[in-house]
Amino acid sequence: MIQLIRGFRDILPGEVEVWQHIEEVATGLFDDFGFKEIRIPIMEKTELFARSIGEDTDIVEKEMYTFPDRKGDLLTLRPEATAAVVRSYIQHKMYAQDPVRKFFTIGPMFRRERPQKGRYRQFYQINAEVFGIGSALVDAQLIHMLIHLCKRLNVADVIPHINSLGCPDCRTAFKAALSAFLENVSGVLCEDCQRRRHRNPLRALDCKVPTCREALTEAPSLTAFLDRECRAEFDLLQESLTRLGLDYVLDKRLVRGLDYYSRATFEIQTGALGAQSAVAGGGRYDGLVKALGGPDIPATGFAIGFDRLAELVGLEREGLVRRPKLFIAALGERSRMLAFEWMNALGLAGVQAEMDHEGRSLKSQMKRADRLGAAFVLMVGEEELERGEVLLRDMTQSEQESIPLADVLERLQSLPAS
Ligand code: AMP
Repeated sequence: MIQLIRGFRDILPGEVEVWQHIEEVATGLFDDFGFKEIRIPIMEKTELFARSIGEDTDIVEKEMYTFPDRKGDLLTLRPEATAAVVRSYIQHKMYAQDPVRKFFTIGPMFRRERPQKGRYRQFYQINAEVFGIGSALVDAQLIHMLIHLCKRLNVADVIPHINSLGCPDCRTAFKAALSAFLENVSGVLCEDCQRRRHRNPLRALDCKVPTCREALTEAPSLTAFLDRECRAEFDLLQESLTRLGLDYVLDKRLVRGLDYYSRATFEIQTGALGAQSAVAGGGRYDGLVKALGGPDIPATGFAIGFDRLAELVGLEREGLVRRPKLFIAALGERSRMLAFEWMNALGLAGVQAEMDHEGRSLKSQMKRADRLGAAFVLMVGEEELERGEVLLRDMTQSEQESIPLADVLERLQSLPAS
């Protein structure tokens, strides 16, 4: 039997309702905050990701699904959405009329990471991106939206972690200090961090290897290197979070894997997911639009890990799966044809109904109705047709009533909502 690819997975009925629910709540919230949906392709030219995410990142170095197409152009299954949204913003000159644009997008991403619980090779993200506003107020608003999205989904136990990455100027001084620090502890660093020490020292800060974590507890903090403007913006971020009534954790280790971030960076963390504690991550990427060939326009955004959020919401999934309102237990050819007509009319009227197509006994049809969790069962057989009335049983109340044949459809269409 052919199995699916390692690290990929099916989202089956029973779980998919959780995903639909999240999507509905998220898009409702985005709409209320003035975000417009944008749909971008799943593949882009490799160069787009190499240039935006950065050659020295884990993603570009070892996790991208990259292959030549038939003409030899290198293409990549997108490992994240931001680069493609920026590409689209520039390509369609969306800044020309009004540089301020707010987008959201939902879809699959691909990274060839080591699969484990909460980490897949095809996973889904919900992204929001804001272009044209440089103020930390927008970063605070994004965090506010994330926390309230979690609240609306009944996901408690979430807290934003925030840090500032400063601007490239602040980072140059910080990188030098950090490199010097890493030099001193280089004996205990893992192989990756040995490499990062020279090429991308910031990445050593969020290394997960315990010896590296331990060695870096006393590492310098980026916030100590912020220039006046970056400092003021970071203060504004904190002040506005407080204004919005949000608690947060200052996290000097929070650097994120992508090169194009600047100033505000954040993660929404939860205690409920074990090792994969980040439900969402985001931050400012003021330099990216320009770096990809557009005008100098600031931008910020976030990505929610849909799979992880679904796992959290799934813990509360009771009631999300829709069950049939009605099962029509029909006995005999004539009854079955009537049941078939009613079932189709009911579907159009928004009342989900099921029936038996195999001519099974009443007992086995009742069993199936029970298994499906139907709220009502309509019983119709030759005898009922002769009498000109059918029996409707309320399965939760264990009551039943007779309904004249002529009134059946009208009565069924007005079954109480569950
Ligand atoms: P990133 O784009 O790396 O900042 O990730 C943003 C969010 O996407 C993370 O907080 C995770 O919740 C989620 N995420 C990232 N990588 C994976 C993965 N391999 N599997 C599942 N979720 C992921």
